[in-house]
Amino acid sequence: THNLPFLKLFMLLSLSGFAMHISNPDPIVPASLQSLNLNGHFQFQNLTDFSQDFGNRFSYQPSSVMFPASISDISATIKHVYELGAQSGLTVAARGHGHSLQGQAQAPGGIVIRMESLRGTETRLHAGESPYVDVSGGELWINVLKETLKHGLAPKSWTDYLHLTVGGTLSNAGVSGQAFRHGPQISNVHELVIVTGTGDTVKCSAKENSDLFYGALGGLGQFGIITRARIALEPAPKMVKWIRVLYSDFTTFTEDQEMLISMEKTFDYIEGFVIINRTGLVNNWRSSFKPQDPVLASQFNSEGRKLFCLEMTKNYNPEDAETIELEVMELLSRLRYVSSTLFQSEVTYMEFLDRVHVSEVKLRSQGLWEVPHPWLNLLIPRSKIHEFAKEVFGKILTDTRNGPILLYPVNRSMWDNRTSVVIPEEEVFYLVAFLSSAPSPSSSLAKNENLEIALKKNKEILEFCHSANIGMKQYLPHHSTQEEWRAHFGDKWETFCRRKQAYDPLAMLAPGQRIFHKAP
Ligand code: FAD
Repeated sequence: THNLPFLKLFMLLSLSGFAMHISNPDPIVPASLQSLNLNGHFQFQNLTDFSQDFGNRFSYQPSSVMFPASISDISATIKHVYELGAQSGLTVAARGHGHSLQGQAQAPGGIVIRMESLRGTETRLHAGESPYVDVSGGELWINVLKETLKHGLAPKSWTDYLHLTVGGTLSNAGVSGQAFRHGPQISNVHELVIVTGTGDTVKCSAKENSDLFYGALGGLGQFGIITRARIALEPAPKMVKWIRVLYSDFTTFTEDQEMLISMEKTFDYIEGFVIINRTGLVNNWRSSFKPQDPVLASQFNSEGRKLFCLEMTKNYNPEDAETIELEVMELLSRLRYVSSTLFQSEVTYMEFLDRVHVSEVKLRSQGLWEVPHPWLNLLIPRSKIHEFAKEVFGKILTDTRNGPILLYPVNRSMWDNRTSVVIPEEEVFYLVAFLSSAPSPSSSLAKNENLEIALKKNKEILEFCHSANIGMKQYLPHHSTQEEWRAHFGDKWETFCRRKQAYDPLAMLAPGQRIFHKAP
């Protein structure tokens, strides 16, 4: 099958683009771009903001940024670049909120499309039996939540942080503690409007142009720009019971997590995180969580210990508070956490979903938000999670000072195999997210010392996964050779290449993913 002509073409297109740091081509700004008849506008100077991202490690300057005021602006621009042909070398990257980690939303010497300029233009809510909302691909999830809550509705599946765009998370998957029940965000979309790499505007769904629909979901921006999405909604609860309990034994922790995600009647959100050698952990929680047993909790010492926190929520409306309390007590009675470590909090649905923003505000005020983020997100099959944990939390990592490590299971059956996202083979797999920050040290260490240490640990973790045959897949993947991408996609690689040829034949879209390379 690898003899197919399109695969050969992409081998050729790709070869020169796989160095870790793609060279920044001389900016080519066709004067003709300025003559396009647009509702929005282009910017050709002061582009630094568009050559950065949350990862804060990769920076490539575009030659221009387009601020679209309509879908037809995006279509006209891409059509124009398409007509310039392969020799122009010009690429186009949709930029959501720029919260990528390794330059994925950047376009070296190319055109960045600022998707947030399309925000708010198309929000239309449909109530009724199966409610949904039509939103712009550049809309932030926080705004989708605010808008839908006005009607007592909300999307079903989330990310932990809501200041991300709809198009950006749908190009990856969108995973959080609701995914075990509803699947990731890409399992909760009815329809997309996409501008492909030829500039065509295509409406697609499971029934209409389904190949493009599934391709774009988890498609890393390779097949077109998501300009509009129809998102499934459900009645929104008013309140959330938010619970944390601690385990000192990894096996008991994961057995309880797996039991909870397999039950019909269970919590609404289930996550977990790993804590290694943290001082005063329980005291830090005190400001937002009430311990069930304050005296015993105050005696609990986290220093020098490896602990696993199970985090759960139960949604409710005030009129159902008593019934829900009983349900929560019944569920908790099945769990085997360290009994003095039950912590609870009650917050509004909005406060819970927007929880990471509170940390963002705090970190920004301390200058700790805009620092390098050498994050590593892995999907680990259930059968290997103990082997993985033993090595990584036993040997490679000795503390979790640099940022949280999330660890929670999800069900494969809630993910659609027709989408482009790549996940492990087993029915239950774990998301393990190493969310490190690497600020410049204030001590005598060299400026990049923290970053280098974190990257070295990441490398050790990846090497262990390969040598021990863990069957791991990267989430928010980052690879530097075509062989690695081929291995990442496995038996989806051929379909991925076929779709690329069909929807972006010049390989101009999302160059920052470094999967394909447009030949100048
Ligand atoms: P960008 O970084 O701007 O873009 C990402 C990629 O998608 C780029 O290749 C870009 O070209 C492409 N793209 C952007 N918009 C479009 C579009 N409209 N059409 C086609 N392609 C497009 N992820 C989770 O799943 N769960 C989490 O809980 C979670 N928490 C996070 C918390 C924080 C603090 C951060 C920084 C990230 C988190 N993420 C999480 C990761 C996040 O989903 C990805 O980084 C995502 O890419 C960010 O969205 P964005 O809108 O900033 O996209």
